[in-house]
Amino acid sequence: MTQTATTYEVVIGLEVHSQLLTSSKMFCACSSDYTRAAPNSHVCPVCLGMPGVLPVINRAAVEKTVMTALALNCEIPAHAKFDRKNYPYPDLMKGYQISQYDMPLSKDGWLMIEMADGTERRIGITRVHLEEDTAMSRHVVDGDGETMSLVDVNRSGVPLMEIVSEPDIRSPEEARLYLVKLRQILRYIGASKANMEEGNFRCDANVSLRPAGSTTLGAKVEVKNMNSFRSVVRALEFEVERQTEVLSAGGVVAQETRGWVEGGEGHTVSQRSKEQAHDYRYFPEPDLPPLALSAAWIAGVRARLPELPEAKRGRFVREYGLGIYDANLLTDTRARADYFEAAVAATGAGRAKAVSNWMLNDMARLQTAAGRDIEDVAVRPEALTGLIALVESGAITSSAARSVFERMFVTGAPPDEVVAELGLTPMGGDDELLTAIEAAIAANPKAVADFHAGKTAALQSLVGGVMKQTRGRANPERTRELLHSRLNSS
Ligand code: ADP
Ligand code: ZN
Ligand code: MG
Repeated sequence: MTQTATTYEVVIGLEVHSQLLTSSKMFCACSSDYTRAAPNSHVCPVCLGMPGVLPVINRAAVEKTVMTALALNCEIPAHAKFDRKNYPYPDLMKGYQISQYDMPLSKDGWLMIEMADGTERRIGITRVHLEEDTAMSRHVVDGDGETMSLVDVNRSGVPLMEIVSEPDIRSPEEARLYLVKLRQILRYIGASKANMEEGNFRCDANVSLRPAGSTTLGAKVEVKNMNSFRSVVRALEFEVERQTEVLSAGGVVAQETRGWVEGGEGHTVSQRSKEQAHDYRYFPEPDLPPLALSAAWIAGVRARLPELPEAKRGRFVREYGLGIYDANLLTDTRARADYFEAAVAATGAGRAKAVSNWMLNDMARLQTAAGRDIEDVAVRPEALTGLIALVESGAITSSAARSVFERMFVTGAPPDEVVAELGLTPMGGDDELLTAIEAAIAANPKAVADFHAGKTAALQSLVGGVMKQTRGRANPERTRELLHSRLNSS
């Protein structure tokens, strides 16, 4: 009898912590922008966790959390409250974190992800709640070679949103798509910088396996310490493989927390078993009032929700006649979409396709080479449409326009100035063109011979020679015509 190996289904749920973009911290007036601040320069008795002080709820943080929850299709309850989550931790100044337990700001939402083959999957969002970030430890070696730990309290009390997914994700790739989509939405609504490498967007990944077809959940492993999307995918791939091996060998997967270790092939190590799990002894935060969220206030937040990526993409297809692929790229970030619409507004919807082409080809290529986001591109939308108009009117050839654009990208100067600077106005009459044609013929006798031998395709390399000599100023049509009659007459 042959035994068929059991196939397993992968089950993943993600917990994302994302710092909110508010000017002050969650419960005090300290600045929450600590990225370049000297250690312990953004602190006060509240975020230092001194006894006898009182926290005050940051309204902007509540709003941004609710806005995020609405963007994720969550329900907003009429009442919410904060709770104390108690645990001992050197970076936790009060010995507890103010978080939300059984009455969070939102629950029961969803996020659509789109697979490479175009199919969509709906991932449930369990809840989006609000809490505070902890301080940070730095382990340093002092002059005597001894290791010591220093605490920087700047991050303590920075508003932190926790977004918990349902265990609806079925592969590491789906997990990546979920994170990409979530990050895009957070950035669109200005809720968070959502940058994993900078540590303001952090992901714990829960993963388990179950026999295909089973509807009960297997024991899950929570993986921590990933600091890039790539690490999340690698950690999940590693865990899927490890758990498959354990189960295939007839073993049981221990429910535990594991840490991702980046080096080499990468692997996970056990950090804490189920038995060592914390008992957080949650209880309602006595120093803060519960929150009443009126329907009118929620409606107000909903009204301020910006157009989200999917809606924008659909509108770009309808309004500007773009393909879905291009519309997707143009709406990748809100800044890129805004740039596109500013350019189209400056020139008319009839040129939308031309604007899109410039943005997705030459501009995207130069941006990648320069490592520059659209916000920092020197070419203003009106300058780009000015360039498009110059090409359309025949004032410059499209090949010359590409050199002009490259220069504009560097200097930010308007197109007509750059055209003059580079001497790229098209040729007036045929005289200069004929000279260039003679030079191209002289430089490429093989193409001439090929042409006379009946290989008409050889003409194209001569046209190319002329374009090169004239730096794109020659009209390719006219060049071909003149070349043709010149070669046929000789
Ligand atoms: P815990 O009590 O350990 O915090 P939760 O039930 O709150 O666990 O879930 C935390 C995260 O783990 C959620 O994102 C959830 O979707 C995910 N999760 C829960 N059970 C499983 C499982 N068996 N396999 C994979 N992910 C799971
Ligand atoms: Zn403070
Ligand atoms: Mg939980």
